[in-house]
Amino acid sequence: MRLSRYFLPVLKENPAEAQIVSHRYMLRAGMIKQQAAGIYSWLPLGFKVLRRIEQIVHEEQTRAGHIPLLMPTLQPADLWRESGRYDDYGQEMLRIKDRQDREMLYGPTNEEMITDIFRAHVNSYKDLPLTLYHIQWKFRDEMRPRFGVMRGREFLMKDGYNFDVDREAALHSYNRHMVSYLRTYERMGLTAIPMRADSGPIGGDDTHEFLVLASTGESEVFFDSAVTELRLGNRDVDYDNREAVAAVCKEFTTLYARTDETHDAALFDAIPEERRKVARGIEVGQIFYFGTKYSASMGAEVVTKEGTKVPVEMGSHGIGVSRLLGAIIEASHDDKGIIWPEGVTPFHAGIVNLKQGDAAADAACAGLEAALIKAGLDPLYDDRDERAGAKFATMDLIGLPWRITVGPRGLEKGIVELTSRRTGVSEEMTPEAAVAKLITIYEGHK
Ligand code: ATP
Ligand code: MG
Repeated sequence: MRLSRYFLPVLKENPAEAQIVSHRYMLRAGMIKQQAAGIYSWLPLGFKVLRRIEQIVHEEQTRAGHIPLLMPTLQPADLWRESGRYDDYGQEMLRIKDRQDREMLYGPTNEEMITDIFRAHVNSYKDLPLTLYHIQWKFRDEMRPRFGVMRGREFLMKDGYNFDVDREAALHSYNRHMVSYLRTYERMGLTAIPMRADSGPIGGDDTHEFLVLASTGESEVFFDSAVTELRLGNRDVDYDNREAVAAVCKEFTTLYARTDETHDAALFDAIPEERRKVARGIEVGQIFYFGTKYSASMGAEVVTKEGTKVPVEMGSHGIGVSRLLGAIIEASHDDKGIIWPEGVTPFHAGIVNLKQGDAAADAACAGLEAALIKAGLDPLYDDRDERAGAKFATMDLIGLPWRITVGPRGLEKGIVELTSRRTGVSEEMTPEAAVAKLITIYEGHK
């Protein structure tokens, strides 16, 4: 993409309404525009990151054997009357009437609808296990929408639902979700710690929230600092192997890590003092095992191997897709702007032409752009007729992890400069070497 033809409405001034750094940078970098309280348009740069995050979520759900579908945003109220939640949900639910005076709602989540799909089509243990998920807009009429996309009213969520014949199989599904989530967040450059949480209004037995540590987080968290050192890395976990999956979950949930809702002072005090940490965190996901709560009330039954009919065992598992943009920026920025992790960056590299209009510089930039595209990478070439300082400031603000700087003086020696946004370190090399290095870097993020 050439910046001169792109739509990147960068703001020079700090927007007064933004209280936290991620919101400020998302507005300044031209990623979002507020349309109403907690409701945003996703401008091209923001939309690109949103799509990259969705892509990672899809890839990791597929790897775990989970199946995508798409349910609508609008739902009939009657479905929610079956589970009893239509009256329980309260003012967070946006209720709408259509022209026939039928009661509808903008879905805040989809347990009822997925249970309805299941009961219409599945009735035997032979069709289990089954996990269906979608990535779809939700609406919750939050009392205090704030912090940009972090607490929106309309927001994008991945929500997945497992159906299993018995408790043991359902716990395996729960564990499989935990491992797939660990992988998902790591690919986004995040450390998201699974913490024992409270089951709240959805109800149920087992639940963990995934928290990214950040001073602006809304949750108070208590943990053993050793938990922040754990990494899944490139381990090849066999998602069908119950013991292997459970072993990973054990590794990640044995050290103390809890939110204030489940905090236990006695257990916390047993941690060696230097490892005892109290901090704040952003909830980027949550997994739930709730058994037959919805299947029993809505009549979603399966026939077991023994021939008896039982309500299907279920759980639901969510990732805050749009909130993740805010969480990633909170975890990765400096005073000049965003620093995107390679896994989610909107463009893989920026190309800065120090002297637009200089024949050699223009040709070298176009050559670099073409070579990167040919290698399957997505560069952003700043071809505007601007001062070098202004070009650097824009690149720093929008946070591309790598920048290639091209100028007539370097080209006389046959070199360009490759700079890491994270470390600020620049290296001189030939344009070919810069392309080769970027290809190697992004190979590691597929
Ligand atoms: P919170 O406690 O932050 O209100 P929640 O526990 O009600 O969230 P869940 O029902 O667990 O939310 O939804 C799954 C995920 O969706 C959450 O972990 C969070 O990342 C995201 N999410 C929830 N509410 C919002 C919101 N208002 N704006 C953006 N993302 C949200
Ligand atoms: Mg939650």
